Amino acid sequence: MKHKVLRYFKSLKQIFNTLTDKSILKGKQLSKNIFVSLQLIFMKEIAMAWFKRESKGITTSTEDKKEAPDGVWNKCPNCKRPLHYSEQVENQYVCHYCGFHLRIGSKEYFSILFDNNEFTELFANLRSGDPLEFEDTKKYKDRLKDTIAKTGLNDAIRAAHGLVDGQPLMVACMDFSFIGGSMGSVVGEKIARSIDYSIEHKVPFLMISKSGGARMMEAAFSLMQMAKTSAKLALLAKAHVPYISLLTDPTTGGVTASYAMLGDINIAEPGALIGFAGPRVIKETIKKDLPKGFQTAEFLQEHGFLDFIVDRREMKEKLASFLKMMVN
Ligand SMILES: [Zn+2]
Repeated sequence: MKHKVLRYFKSLKQIFNTLTDKSILKGKQLSKNIFVSLQLIFMKEIAMAWFKRESKGITTSTEDKKEAPDGVWNKCPNCKRPLHYSEQVENQYVCHYCGFHLRIGSKEYFSILFDNNEFTELFANLRSGDPLEFEDTKKYKDRLKDTIAKTGLNDAIRAAHGLVDGQPLMVACMDFSFIGGSMGSVVGEKIARSIDYSIEHKVPFLMISKSGGARMMEAAFSLMQMAKTSAKLALLAKAHVPYISLLTDPTTGGVTASYAMLGDINIAEPGALIGFAGPRVIKETIKKDLPKGFQTAEFLQEHGFLDFIVDRREMKEKLASFLKMMVN
């Protein structure tokens, strides 16, 4: 911009020189009017130059663009009204217009549940191997590497212990952002180790499920996690240590068919999609039309699969009272 202005002043000087050289104005006093007019013309030119693009199109490169940080404003997927990030945090990531429970990850659940957001994370460094050297549209090894870089997570689950309303609790929480919260060998191993911790320290165990099911890229290794986690939970029951399962949106596939449904208490968040297979597969198998909303938390509670549906805003309080009851 600065060079543009300088260029115009330079040309202004040139015009004055030309006028003087050609004797048009020689000997005459440059009238005040001409001088003011010339000044106005050039000021207008400069002003126009400020608003005129020198080259067409958008020239700012993507990395130079200053955008609002991700998630500062979010649209409620249900009522489509805008939600500011600070409002979401304040309201435990529940839409304050319609009560819709936004999908959140382990970071948010830990901050909601643990006292003062203080907890000790365990087994954080476990990462998946690639024993089958699996490849679909992408090599599994590369998919893992990319997802780790993108999410900052090492797999689809995090485990931590801390205090919930002053009572110790071991929590394992799934992250949907990591390959659809799929259950692979790391998910199974972290759950198994969390249960071991619970048994050893006599601390109740809370599992927060959010998953698309088994991790296809680990094939049979993934399916084995169903048996492994179920067997570990049997040991937890034998040790008389309470287990609470919290099913969030969505909990499907092998996760529903194993640890998610094995709680001493099974809780879900309102409106959560919970099921084993998708509706189309079930319909083709049983050759019958399916009832409306048959895979929602509300339907499942009505049919005895769930004990409670708890609003996230009351989750901590409810969990604390369950823990008090179960431990004593
Ligand atoms: Zn809403």
